[in-house]
Amino acid sequence: MSLSEFLKAAESISNIKKQEVPLPIAKKYAVISPLKVGDDLALRTSLTSPVNYDREMIRLIHRHTEIQGPDGELIRENYEHFCATTSNIDKLCLIWGLYKTTYETLGKRTIRCDKESCKTEFKQEIFLDDLVKEDTFVVWEEELPFHEYIYVIEVPYDKFIYIFESKIPTIRDNNRLLSNLSVDTLQNNLQSTGMVFSRAEQMALLTKSVIIQNENKSIPNPPRTDNLQEMLIAFKQYIPHVVSEDFFKAYRDKFDKYYPQFYTIVRCPACSNEIRYQVDLEVEFFRRSIYGRGESSEEL
Ligand SMILES: [Zn+2]
Repeated sequence: MSLSEFLKAAESISNIKKQEVPLPIAKKYAVISPLKVGDDLALRTSLTSPVNYDREMIRLIHRHTEIQGPDGELIRENYEHFCATTSNIDKLCLIWGLYKTTYETLGKRTIRCDKESCKTEFKQEIFLDDLVKEDTFVVWEEELPFHEYIYVIEVPYDKFIYIFESKIPTIRDNNRLLSNLSVDTLQNNLQSTGMVFSRAEQMALLTKSVIIQNENKSIPNPPRTDNLQEMLIAFKQYIPHVVSEDFFKAYRDKFDKYYPQFYTIVRCPACSNEIRYQVDLEVEFFRRSIYGRGESSEEL
């Protein structure tokens, strides 16, 4: 009896600090509840494998996320549906919400003035609230939902045209790609480029299908694939580097504006210069999972 009373009280306290956050690509409103003691452990145990880490992170985010329905009621979406209709970009906003409601602050950071004649180093606490500015989010502008939307990028090469159907990846796309790569591959990527995915893998993540057509588009049924494994092999081994350059250029021109800019302006105490301090929340999250609160609150 007294135990259940105690748990009831603990539960109601844990519900107090909820944070509303917009999901600009999925065009939804989410309400996030803070991390609990047990959450941390699940993430730490999955750190040896990037796929498991990603999966655990998504489960963790999902567990703490409720979505506002049409009448303002809060719904916990079915896990599969959540992964298929929430973008990788929205995930960053959810991480922001999770951080905000759990910690409020990223801790003190060492910042170096970027003015050539100054270069003063100083410490400043970075609050989650300060990272959201008027231009942080750009809301999805197309009529179709992002997960149905295709942006065609045509790249001519010699007597052929590569026709890419590009997209904004969902949380599920990201995890599916991760599970197609070996731990060795991912570790190698991280060591050689500091990124989780190589260029070819990144391209596969952003592509729904690819067609090889001849230059006057006269082949009636040109070779086409939407198979992830096939695309990975083709992008790695057969598609010319210049084609990937044109692809990324066109993709960025179209979609870059949607990546949320979490930044704050800090003032150098020595010369009053204003410095833009930008944060990669996914990296922050990863770091805190590895090092915990103390160590991760300081720039490494
Ligand atoms: Zn300065």
